[in-house]
Amino acid sequence: MSYVTADTLQRFREDIPGVDASIELGERQAKSKDFHWYSPILTPQLQHCLADIVVKPRDEEEVRAIIKAAVKHRISMTLRGGGTGNYGQSVPLQGGIILDMTGCNQVIAVGDGELRVQAGAYIKSALDAALASGQQLMMYPSTMRAATIGGYLGGGFAGIGSVRHGIIRDSGMIVALKIMTIEEEPRIIELTGKDVSFVFHSWGTTGVILEASLKLVKAETWIDCIATFPTYGDTIAFGNAAFDSDLDIFLLSAVEKRFAPFYKRTQKYFDGSRDAIFSMVNIRDVDAFFELAARFGGHRSMAVSEQESKEAQLRPIHTTAFNHTTLMALQADPSWTYLQVVMPAPYTPELAEAQLAKFGDEVLMHHEYTREHGRVRLGGLPLIKFTTAERLTEIMRIFEADGCTINNPHIFKLEDGGRFDPEGVKMAFRRQVDPLGLLNPGKLRSLSAA
Ligand SMILES: Cc1cc2nc3c(=O)[nH]c(=O)nc-3n(C[C@H](O)[C@H](O)[C@H](O)COP(=O)(O)OP(=O)(O)OC[C@H]3O[C@@H](n4cnc5c(N)ncnc54)[C@H](O)[C@@H]3O)c2cc1C
Repeated sequence: MSYVTADTLQRFREDIPGVDASIELGERQAKSKDFHWYSPILTPQLQHCLADIVVKPRDEEEVRAIIKAAVKHRISMTLRGGGTGNYGQSVPLQGGIILDMTGCNQVIAVGDGELRVQAGAYIKSALDAALASGQQLMMYPSTMRAATIGGYLGGGFAGIGSVRHGIIRDSGMIVALKIMTIEEEPRIIELTGKDVSFVFHSWGTTGVILEASLKLVKAETWIDCIATFPTYGDTIAFGNAAFDSDLDIFLLSAVEKRFAPFYKRTQKYFDGSRDAIFSMVNIRDVDAFFELAARFGGHRSMAVSEQESKEAQLRPIHTTAFNHTTLMALQADPSWTYLQVVMPAPYTPELAEAQLAKFGDEVLMHHEYTREHGRVRLGGLPLIKFTTAERLTEIMRIFEADGCTINNPHIFKLEDGGRFDPEGVKMAFRRQVDPLGLLNPGKLRSLSAA
């Protein structure tokens, strides 16, 4: 089904001469999907959504031309970076335009403690530019090679580095955002300070991010480490202690031994006989990290530099964490799905063991340590053997009865995933920057109030 008539589409195209635009079916299908296929609930709801046209601007003036033409012809627009979001964030629910931002991909400047980058740049290219100056990003998603800066700020939440610097929201990582409004005469707004939250994690509904200024920190040498433990309770006890220690840790990811068959390129070090912590540890703290692990029955299983990892053709540790863990399982067996569960603090080894026993083979445990307001925020990404939607809901209720909070990943309405815009400031901002509601329509439950 098409939401835009052929005539309107033709007139839209005439208004953006010179802009890379495609109405080819294969291109529209490819750019109308993201990683919502992790969810057997979302797949049937989103798999048939199809954009009418894909446009790929190369600079700010082309973005402006596209917006002006979209407003003139009242065509909706869904912004897209790398398309690695998990909740259908960049799926065009009502067709229209896919605005593919990956043509706007320049690192504009690297200064002392700050980097300015165009939104369509892949995160890896921003990280490389920072590293070349002896600095690094505070965090990045495990998808940093395929994901863009704009997509991460528009749709992401935390990542590699969040155990050290906090989740994106309170890390102070976003210094400024330059956005363009969706109006007849699009305006440029530079947001700084707390105002960047109007756009952060808004799923591309509060303006087009053109550029971002991100805080940089001194680059460190991170060593990919695996420590293995006799039980998952020991693994969690160590994770808690490592989090509370003064060790410099960039990633702290706990997985139980039943994940081992999915970790094919690290099987030598994680063979399924013991549970494990996958970590990135500052080179100066590696020995102390494993000494602490030994207090919980931990073994030093692997400690390799980036170069050693490449030479041995290992999987970089950052691509074994967060939703890459889920991806590796799904690639082996598509009947898995997952949940996002915030564990109660403190998450005790006893509760971890009790949950393992309670769910048996239906649920495999995976936890990511992150920081929120300086305290531990232990996010579970458990694998769930999917049977029915009802059973999935029941499993969520069982976690909740243990004091856990569910951020349901099987939704495509922004407000349904967790705490969203309680003070209504994002929605108020949205009215100013997109008065016609053309951005990513269908994703906001509260739109009627907007
Ligand atoms: C294997 C895997 C691992 C993952 N690991 C992590 C992780 O560690 N941490 C994490 O937070 N997430 C993770 N994710 C989710 C996702 O990869 C990240 O959120 C990613 O940063 C999204 O970037 P993207 O460029 O792919 O965005 P897209 O999926 O293209 O877009 C995401 C959202 O941002 C909006 N958007 C895109 N560009 C702009 C722009 N210029 N202006 C305004 N809005 C825009 C889109 O409309 C959409 O709503 C993972 C996903 C997968 C599949």
